[in-house]
Amino acid sequence: MTASIINGKEIAAKKRMEIAEEVNRIKNLGVTPGLAVILVGDNPASQTYVKNKEKACQELGMNSVLIKMPEEISEESLLSKIAELNNDPSIHGILVQLPLPKHIEEKKVIESISPFKDVDGFHPINIGRMMTGQDAFLPCTPYGIMVLLEETDISIAGKHVVVVGRSNIVGKPVGQLFLNKDATVTYCHSKTKDLKIHTNQADILIAAVGIPNFIKAEHVKDGAVVIDVGINRNEAGKLCGDVDFAEVSEKAGYITPVPKGVGPMTITMLMYNTLKSAAQSLNRN
Ligand code: NAD
Repeated sequence: MTASIINGKEIAAKKRMEIAEEVNRIKNLGVTPGLAVILVGDNPASQTYVKNKEKACQELGMNSVLIKMPEEISEESLLSKIAELNNDPSIHGILVQLPLPKHIEEKKVIESISPFKDVDGFHPINIGRMMTGQDAFLPCTPYGIMVLLEETDISIAGKHVVVVGRSNIVGKPVGQLFLNKDATVTYCHSKTKDLKIHTNQADILIAAVGIPNFIKAEHVKDGAVVIDVGINRNEAGKLCGDVDFAEVSEKAGYITPVPKGVGPMTITMLMYNTLKSAAQSLNRN
């Protein structure tokens, strides 16, 4: 079997068109969605991510504000900037680019962001709301994965979803979103024994490990849906996922490539969350 490719770039483009239309609509009602991105230090990967977020905002007609802070900024100064943005009515989303320097406590920073402006969906209030099936800002990468499946008409209820990886930003929340959609969910991680036994039962396999080409054909059931979240560099310095695409695509039913798979969905859902926050602010006024 040769897998059908789930084209994240195309699906993201379609979603972005819908978002742009909605941005226009709420602009006519007097609100322009605004995203504030705080970048501490000069980590090159973070700089690229932040640039892409700004570009996406511009393309969709949203405002973006980039706040650059030096690596040695105090935690207190960062928290007071966030407090200022929490109270700024022109800002609907606040994103602090991670990772932060070691002297700043990440948890404290995330919890200082107003849950109403937490468009990354990392605040414990949003996570709790997501877990209990209430309306919430959903974390962007897991949310993007759900949209990829929805747009590909892949049903979820009753399916066995195996998630490899249990990070707070990808593995754990994506499993929860599948559970909310009536899947049976298994989590695997670095301490899991006999990984293959679990992954081979997956109707839908999510790889969020961070190891290049980690998932091989032997890990995958015939015809399974394989979602590759990884963004890695292989030995040759080339971008690659957590899934060995060449061999797994011969066995899977559907597969996301890297690049042009999950990646483009993450920023798209960030834009969606910012729009949603702006629309909600209209209702609160
Ligand atoms: P992480 O390092 O926080 O977590 C990795 C997880 O993999 C851990 O929970 C660990 O238990 C598990 N793991 C490690 N070795 C394992 C093994 N041998 N067997 C089974 N499980 C193992 O990573 P993360 O932040 O969740 O990111 C995972 C990957 O996804 C990375 O490549 C990252 O760059 C990528 N990522 C992509 C996007 C996107 O937009 N596409 C967003 C976030 C992360």
